Amino acid sequence: MAKNNVTRDTYLVGIGVSPGIAIGQVNLLDQRYPVYEFSIEPDEIDAEVARFREAVAEALAQLNRIKERVSGQVHLREHLYILDTHMLILEDDMLIGETEAAIRTQRNAESALRQVLRKLRRLFDNIEDEYLRERRSDVDAVGERLLRILCGASERMISRVEKQSIIVAHDLSPTETMQMDRSRVLGFLTDRGGRTSHTAILARSLDIPAVVGLETVTALTQDRQTIIIDGESGIVILNPSQETISEYRQRKKDYEQLEHELEDYRHLTAVTTDGVRISLCGNLEMESEFKLAHKHAAEGIGLYRTEFLYLGRQQPPSEEEQFSAYCSALERMEGQPVTIRTLDIGGDKFVPALNLEDEVNPAMGLRAIRFSLQEETLFRVQLRAILRASGKGPVRIMFPMITGVAEIRACKRILVDVAAELQHEGIACNPDLPVGIMIETPSAVMIAPFLAQEVDFFSIGTNDLIQYFLAVDRGNEHVAYLYDPFHPAILRALKMTCDAAHDAGISVCICGEMAGEPLYTLVLIGLGLDGLSMNPSCIPRVKRVLRNVSRKQGQDLIEKLLSLPTSKEVSAAIDQEMRTLLPDLFNRPLL
Ligand code: PEP
Ligand code: MG
Repeated sequence: MAKNNVTRDTYLVGIGVSPGIAIGQVNLLDQRYPVYEFSIEPDEIDAEVARFREAVAEALAQLNRIKERVSGQVHLREHLYILDTHMLILEDDMLIGETEAAIRTQRNAESALRQVLRKLRRLFDNIEDEYLRERRSDVDAVGERLLRILCGASERMISRVEKQSIIVAHDLSPTETMQMDRSRVLGFLTDRGGRTSHTAILARSLDIPAVVGLETVTALTQDRQTIIIDGESGIVILNPSQETISEYRQRKKDYEQLEHELEDYRHLTAVTTDGVRISLCGNLEMESEFKLAHKHAAEGIGLYRTEFLYLGRQQPPSEEEQFSAYCSALERMEGQPVTIRTLDIGGDKFVPALNLEDEVNPAMGLRAIRFSLQEETLFRVQLRAILRASGKGPVRIMFPMITGVAEIRACKRILVDVAAELQHEGIACNPDLPVGIMIETPSAVMIAPFLAQEVDFFSIGTNDLIQYFLAVDRGNEHVAYLYDPFHPAILRALKMTCDAAHDAGISVCICGEMAGEPLYTLVLIGLGLDGLSMNPSCIPRVKRVLRNVSRKQGQDLIEKLLSLPTSKEVSAAIDQEMRTLLPDLFNRPLL
């Protein structure tokens, strides 16, 4: 579709990475500058290398200036490391040294730089881990900065864009995003990007609605055109009609009103109308989420994914590093419990520092607790750090992907041994810290009554549980239609697990994505869950449902659902019940 024949109300759908609705004028930042590539004579090489080095020095100076400018802004302080990362890339031999080497093969600097960037992009594209793959954008951003300097193009001054702008760009570097002025920029859209890119993380920190991964938005938009974006659903509307604009103005008002109302939930207890108290905790996979956990009054961390401590580095983190990260979690949660899950790598989580072998079937391979039990030295380092932190505050430990009693017994044996070792060294720890397991395999569900005898709590990992129960790869878009939390088998698995926990007198919570979805809240309460742990920003919406329903209503719903043979019927029954009980919340149209 060419720019000029985009019709009224053209909908695009991308990845909504920062919620909120914005209606404004496009500020298209993608006016490209010409880059000339050619070969040079041998006697021009030294001058060309010198020109490239000057560009590198100028790029460093620009980054320093930006750092000075934004370092006074408190909400951005924790992201300043992005600028440091870019400065480090400017010293990296893979980019700088290789470009100089390419210039010496008689390429001009622009052409040499582009050649090296292409090579680096290929390397990054082959990385399986989504988080690491998206770090490619940092290298791209530095490359783009250097190319602009070499071509004499001016820096894109995002801090100066017109008021009421919705920025549309092929890609935005984190450095650019960081400089956005909330009083000018209403939202932004990019062709590229994913959910875990730094740019997306920053959009959430800045509270700017954003949709990324739109692929064609720069090709379809024109400067100053009116546009609507919904950063939650990822919907973008080009050339909206007056009617659509009015509708979205209303939705924006409703959204803001809702956000405002939801702030009040911070002070309210998570309790059902019949007095059942459910603990609502936060899941944590990166430092910046502590702030959100605090904002939404999470009652603790229900899942601390320790994998993120191992990402983006050559060596696994030392005992000291881990200890200090866990202590910092305790401090930041101000006395609330922190549930630390031991390393859960393998499957779709690739950690280069651990040199895992390629496996034909990684989801069922040497992952999670299997890896830890095999690499006992590494496991002991983590257990020492967790146990030491338990001497400082309310730490709970949790083991991932348990399939049998022998595994949990082996974990406990090593844990007791490590605790004794610490006590022998005179190092404080809590040898009686609560020990729990993730219930995320069919075998764990089937033997839940035995497992419940071994531990203090269960936490159901529905993300994996659904994958293993329904034999559907959770990351494969071709079978995504089968990945179904409403499947009658999943309902039964959840019920068996909750019943086994309660028969044994231990607590059970869910820390998979299902926990944060308000549509499932009543079902989960009906199943008897004691706690839900989720992305902290989901807490207010879940709490709102929770405070308006009773466990009895949930139990009645479960009874009905258990008689239904298909996901479709289960899903329709839940939908119907929620619309009837809470029409204000669940009768909202999707588009
Ligand atoms: C899960 O499987 O539901 C879970 C919470 O763990 P992860 O998503 O980290 O595998
Ligand atoms: Mg899991």
